[in-house]
Amino acid sequence: MGTGLVNVRLARTPIAPIDADAQWLNMRLQAGVQKVPAVDALKGLKRIAPPPGSLDLISSGWTEMQAELLQTFVLNATGTIIFTGPPGSGKTHVMHRLSEHIARTRPGQRQAFIEQPVETILPHAPQLNILDTLTAKAAGEAYAHRTRLVLRMAVNILGLGEIRDPLVATTWLSAAETGMLMMSTMHTAHPFLAIPRLRDMDPDRLALPIICDPAIICGLVGQRLVPILCDHCALPWDQDDPRLTKMMRDAILTWQRPDWQASNIRRLGPGCPHCAWKGTARRQVVAEVVDPDETLMADFIQYGPTLARHRYHTRSDSDSTMLEKGMELVFQGRMDPFDVPLKIERIRSYDFLQRERERALKGLETMAFIGGGH
Ligand SMILES: [Zn+2]
Repeated sequence: MGTGLVNVRLARTPIAPIDADAQWLNMRLQAGVQKVPAVDALKGLKRIAPPPGSLDLISSGWTEMQAELLQTFVLNATGTIIFTGPPGSGKTHVMHRLSEHIARTRPGQRQAFIEQPVETILPHAPQLNILDTLTAKAAGEAYAHRTRLVLRMAVNILGLGEIRDPLVATTWLSAAETGMLMMSTMHTAHPFLAIPRLRDMDPDRLALPIICDPAIICGLVGQRLVPILCDHCALPWDQDDPRLTKMMRDAILTWQRPDWQASNIRRLGPGCPHCAWKGTARRQVVAEVVDPDETLMADFIQYGPTLARHRYHTRSDSDSTMLEKGMELVFQGRMDPFDVPLKIERIRSYDFLQRERERALKGLETMAFIGGGH
């Protein structure tokens, strides 16, 4: 009595670390007409300290342009950045680094993560755990349930572990439509495939005209972690490399240019004391960062994902593909060509990829001529 409070709405949930019995409690204090200065009540409460250090994406392999784009994406108030790639490609790692960057630059913004399972603890953001042992269906229901819970917590920024099935996808869209910044992951071969994959999860609710909106999806990222050869024991690459097919060896040679010589290519060596006999020194990120602006989104709707991707790649300022970056590492002698199909994608001939792009654009002109298509 006398505080001016008319209602307190509580929401709470266990968060990681579960074994320390961590809990997250959210109180929304609703004042009546009579407002009492709450300064005294705030004494003794502490702000969460911002994470130490500063954002460094370059040292793990992201390019300057990619780092710049990622930081631009997280300046959005709404929209989802979707990170695609296989398990173990560092998607959660980069989401955590960006989350720390947000906590440093926008203190007071409320963040939360839903992860299956929580692996590393973020001191600045509550993390809701989903057991790794759940069946796909139970995990989907747990994602959806926790997302609805987090929405009641009035967060500004949500990291959603993975958009994995129709239930999570429609819950994600509801969250995205309330207007918050989100980061999430999907398992697709390249970033452009996230769009048709989402649509296929619920063709009505997740129709292209609904999801192809920069306010709903504000960044598309594809990433891999690739092994970098040890400088001390890597061996010259043999053009008859028996580990690869003739088709692929021939394809590698089509990538030669004046400054890309096959004689510079190296392969995994026997190991040495410098690399603890692994043959590789470290792993680095190979990524493609796509800015889904209105032009790209309109292309997705009008021409479909394949043509939209080819058209995007003909822009002078677009990021190169992961295969192009991988082949650059190969011709620098830093990556074994054998790892390209295993870690990135099948090596196709340089000319084939160029022709594929040209064909796609030609098809587009034909479609325009006959009055557009889908
Ligand atoms: Zn070595």
